[in-house]
This record gives sequence, C-alpha cells and structure tokens, in this order.
Amino acid sequence: MTADSAHFVTRAVHAGRTRETATSRATPIFLTAGFEFDDFDHAADHFGTGAGFGYTRTGNPTVRTVERQLAALESGADAVLVASGQAAVVTAFLTVAGAGDHIVSSTHIYEGTRGLLVDNLARLGIEATFIDDIDDPEAWRAAIRPNTRALFAESIANARNDILDISAISAVADEAAIPLIVDNTLATPYLVRPLEHGAAIVVHSASKFLAGHGSVLGGVIIDDGRFDAVRHGHNAPHLVLPGRGGLPSVAARHGGNARIAYARESVAPRFGASPSPLNAFLIGQGVETLGLRVERQSRNALEIARWLESQDEVESVDYAGLPSHPDHAKAEHYLRGGFGSIFTFTLRGGLPAARRFVESVEVFVHMTHIGDVRSLVLHPGTTSHAQRAPEERELHGIFPGTLRLSIGIEDVSDLIGDLAQVLSATEAAIA
Ligand SMILES: *Cc1c(COP(=O)(O)O)cnc(C)c1O
Repeated sequence: MTADSAHFVTRAVHAGRTRETATSRATPIFLTAGFEFDDFDHAADHFGTGAGFGYTRTGNPTVRTVERQLAALESGADAVLVASGQAAVVTAFLTVAGAGDHIVSSTHIYEGTRGLLVDNLARLGIEATFIDDIDDPEAWRAAIRPNTRALFAESIANARNDILDISAISAVADEAAIPLIVDNTLATPYLVRPLEHGAAIVVHSASKFLAGHGSVLGGVIIDDGRFDAVRHGHNAPHLVLPGRGGLPSVAARHGGNARIAYARESVAPRFGASPSPLNAFLIGQGVETLGLRVERQSRNALEIARWLESQDEVESVDYAGLPSHPDHAKAEHYLRGGFGSIFTFTLRGGLPAARRFVESVEVFVHMTHIGDVRSLVLHPGTTSHAQRAPEERELHGIFPGTLRLSIGIEDVSDLIGDLAQVLSATEAAIA
C-alpha cells in the first residue's frame, strides 16, 4: 500500500510528504516534533549515543545552527539554546548545583534571577549568598563555602550600570575550582566576551539584543569547554561519577565539554524549556545584525546620556559610558565598540515627574523589555523593583524619579527631540 492509494484519513496524514533535501542559504526551519529514523539500527544508535536528531526537545537542526552561531560569537566551545533567558539561568544553575549546594551571586542582578535564587532554588535546597560590593574579590572569596558550586554576576548590571571586573572575579572562582557564570544579556558578545576574560559559562536572555526585534523569547547557555575532571571534579560529582546502569561519566564521554553536555543531555530537556525551532530561526536572523545594532544603539545611548546629564531637570545619569560614572574606567577596559544602550537616569521632580515622563513620550515606547530596535522606557520603582523595600531600591540606584531607558536604532535627533518635549512638558506640569 502506498500512502497515495490509502484511505482518505490515512492520505490526509501521509500523502505528499517528502524527505528530499536542498541546500538552502537561509537556515531551514525544522518545525517538527521529531525526525524519522532511516532504519532499526539508526534509532538504536541515536538513543545509545545521542548522535543525530530524534526528537526536538533533545535536539533540532535549526536550534543547533543557532547554538553554534552563538557559541562562536561568545568564543565558547558549545551552547544550548532554551525557551527564555530565565530558562537559561535555571539551566546554568542546575547544571552546576543540586540540593545541599550553594551559589554566591552579585546582588545587582535581574529581578527574575534574584527571585529564582531566593524563592525557587532555595526550596530545592540550593542556597545563595549575595555580594553587594562586587568589585571586591575579598567579598566574593569570603562568601565561598566548601559546598559553593558557582559564582554568578552580570557583565553590565541594571540599574546602576555596574561593570563586572570579570578577570578578577574569574580568578576567585578559579582558586575555588568552580565556574564564574556571567549573564551577558546587557553587554552582548559584540561589546564583551566574558569567556575571553576567564568566565566559564555565559548566559543570555536572547529575547533582548540577540533577537533584537522584540518578537520572541529565548535564552542560551554557552560554555568555555574547559572543564577539567581532575581540578574541578570534586565540585561536580555528577559529572565525574559513572551514570545510571554503569554508563561512563559525563566527563569520560565529553571531556572539557562535560558541563555543557550535561546541560544538553540532562538539564535542558528534562526540565523541558525547549525552544521552538521557529523562535530559534528568528533569533538566528536577529543575531546576524547584532553588531550593527549594538554599535548604533551604543552610539545613540552615549549621545542621549550626555544630553540628559546637561539638563536642569535631571539629577543624575547612571551610564558607564560617561566619565562621571564610577565604573567608567572598567567599562573602557572591558567594553569594545560602545558602552551598551541600557541605563537609568533620575529626574529631580521625583515620582510626579517620572509619571509625567512616561505619559508624555511619543517616540519612546513604554514597556518592560530591553535590547529592542525601538527605544523603550520603564519606571523601575513601581514596576520591576516595586516589591523591594525603599532602602533596597536605593542601594540598587532606584529612586522615585528614576527611569530606565533602552535605546534603539532610531535617528538620535528624533530621540533627543522626544526627550526634550517630554522634559519641557514635565517641567510645565509640576512648576
Ligand atoms: C530579561 C532578562 C533575563 C530573563 O530573560 P527572559 O528572556 O525574559 O526570560 C535574564 N537576565 C537579564 C539580565 C535580563 O535582562
């Protein structure tokens, strides 16, 4: 029986299908749950060795292409793409830590990551200690315990634009034979590649700059491929001990890539935050123009930050690209080709001025997102950081008059024009 001569309902699902391949310039979108096996042995081999593609939750050619693209841009050995930035952070933590373990984190991190550590991982028995003075290697060193499995920080942190001294903190992690995990979402690999400065793992929310179009969510974990069973094994028993049924250990099978192999085999597909191949495709398309966008966005942001700093209505601007920023020298050391496009500034008029501001913008879009080609504005004090006590907000550089900007690729004169019209409207309203 051929599919074409079968009954209607059988033909509906089998007729016309093809397995022909063609060489496509664009990455084909393998929008499929699974992949047909060539024969009996092919299936057994796939399940035995993990080679090739069987089911999209464990691997998909479109997803794989984007993983290789991102690993290359971050100077990493390999990458795992997942459904969101939050999933990337969870996957990275669960790749290195389990119940009874401990993570030392910067306190200047994305609120979703903080919530994950404080609420969710704590309930799974993974404890966290937070470091405020992230510049002080001694503060990190003092927080490390025998059960500490990773240090975690962001290369550029929101809201104060703190810049991580990646080499100094990597050195502290290395002394303890544990990885430094860096969330490089705000900087992007165009500005800095933390693995080149000693970090072991990089994570991103690909929903932001990597995609750039603000149309999809995604996340990625990129590993340096330098896991050393002898040096790091005592802090990663799950990588060096034999697997179930006498399977050789992850390290024996994957060597330096043990961590990322474990993330791919055991963490990402089990916890299940698999990316849609369509979203992977859209992220890959975005990444192709990452450098052009971030270069333009950084240039626009610097010009806007300078302009804001010269306005009477503005009390302060927290942008690491400005010489007035406490981390400016570190930013010049680590960032190449710009200083990023996300920063906060504080209006003298406090909360009423901030409210007028978001209600008056015409070119800027009022929403909770960053890294978009469009310029965006948000009032962190009443949104992303509303759950924090006022003293905690101030520690993070968030005051009632503080606004966060994510600068897009528009013509900078239109953006400054918008801000100028907003500031004069704000001034008039509260005068
Ligand atoms: C947005 C963001 C995340 C979370 O990413 P999602 O894609 O929204 O899940 C993590 N870290 C940073 C720095 C972010 O900006």
